[in-house]
Amino acid sequence: MQKNQLMAKDRKYVWHPFTQMKDWQTEEFPVIEKGEGCYLIDAEGRRYLDGVSSLWCNVHGHRVKEIDQAVRKQLGKIAHCTFLGLTHPAAIELAEKLIAIAPKGLTRVFYSDSGSEAVEIALKMAYQYWRQRGNAPKKKFVKLANAYHGDTIGAVSLGGIGLFHQIYKPLLFETLEIPSPYRYRWPTGSDPAQVKAESLEAMEKVLRENHEEIAALVMEPLMQGAAGMIDQPRGYISRARELTRKYNTLLIFDEVATGFGRTGAMFAAEHERVTPDILAAAKGLTGGYLPLAATLATEEIYEAFLGEYEDFRTFFHGHTYAANPLACAAAIANLKLFEKQKTLEQLQPKIRLLRKRLKDFYRLPLVGDIRQVGAMVGIELVRDKKTKEAFEPKEKIGVRVIERARQKGAILRPLGPVVVLMPPLAMTERQLHKLLDITYESIEEAAQ
Ligand SMILES: *Cc1c(COP(=O)(O)O)cnc(C)c1O
Repeated sequence: MQKNQLMAKDRKYVWHPFTQMKDWQTEEFPVIEKGEGCYLIDAEGRRYLDGVSSLWCNVHGHRVKEIDQAVRKQLGKIAHCTFLGLTHPAAIELAEKLIAIAPKGLTRVFYSDSGSEAVEIALKMAYQYWRQRGNAPKKKFVKLANAYHGDTIGAVSLGGIGLFHQIYKPLLFETLEIPSPYRYRWPTGSDPAQVKAESLEAMEKVLRENHEEIAALVMEPLMQGAAGMIDQPRGYISRARELTRKYNTLLIFDEVATGFGRTGAMFAAEHERVTPDILAAAKGLTGGYLPLAATLATEEIYEAFLGEYEDFRTFFHGHTYAANPLACAAAIANLKLFEKQKTLEQLQPKIRLLRKRLKDFYRLPLVGDIRQVGAMVGIELVRDKKTKEAFEPKEKIGVRVIERARQKGAILRPLGPVVVLMPPLAMTERQLHKLLDITYESIEEAAQ
């Protein structure tokens, strides 16, 4: 089918996620037919750098021989069987591999299909854990401002992005919110030490005053992604671990975005040698190939669910496609590639390249703040650098930048006024330079 026909049918039949479909009827959009390494190729053969890893999930590129083969091989055996009452080799092998690379002390893997579900499961686990430990009052969750943990109602309850969440408010359960250490817009100034101290004080205050009712503190460690790439100061997550221990609450890390190498280590938790009680992983788990998620728990959490059949301490959760064998096969191949290609070692000079080149972006009149953790980057655009005055939503500044980037051959996806770069870990230094050139020029032109 021709590109125009495809676009017409798409406009007629499809409803896209996080998309104003009214705009969609008149906007140009690429129809992606193929992928090749770090490139996406559209129906007319145009090539685009995949600048956000197909929404933060691609790791080794597209059409990776080893992952393609692993999925095909699994397809030759079985595409799917239930995980309720049965098991299969790929899920077993993957669970063993995940425990081997996870923060020390996480010992159990619970599979599901998406990041939202992995978080939903973490919530339910934490809640049920306290009930089965005979501590029923502990049922509240503490979240960070601006948090994003997915789109299902439980995950949205933990979310703090007004734009996404406000409308559903009557459906959501109550949470306790603490500020995120957003240096650039911290109310009392941007001194890093002060932001750190004050944000951690706020965390302690909420825990101290409410710990008898708190089940868990939930956070994206090191970098809040969808919040607009808000990074945390060194020591923030280890202090969160100390405080949650001190106040007898669980710590849940949502590593859906930060997991599988994005921050420069396999998991963000590793940077400060922190082990959460529960860890949610998804996006990069299959190398960006297939939907699969995993919620990892400590033995202590797991043991609270053991009992006689008729005691109903069972964890009553399980999606139809949980632990899908094709997805597990892709995930195993993904993890093997991390070893074989020394992906994390190879990534370090690329992280330095990003850091070095991003400094130049401060020359651009619109660039207010640049935040980077590993290969996760957010460039916050402002109308006025001095006053930090923000753009109006209707100015669509982020959209203007990515439209220009698309014309120049890179696919990006902004978060409001924040331009995000999250290249596949396999992106070469040459490709990174090109991606940065395109981004720089696009921001420059969007100012005009
Ligand atoms: C993307 C994301 C989710 C949701 O994952 P889905 O697979 O889209 O449901 C949850 N938490 C974080 C931190 C994310 O970045």
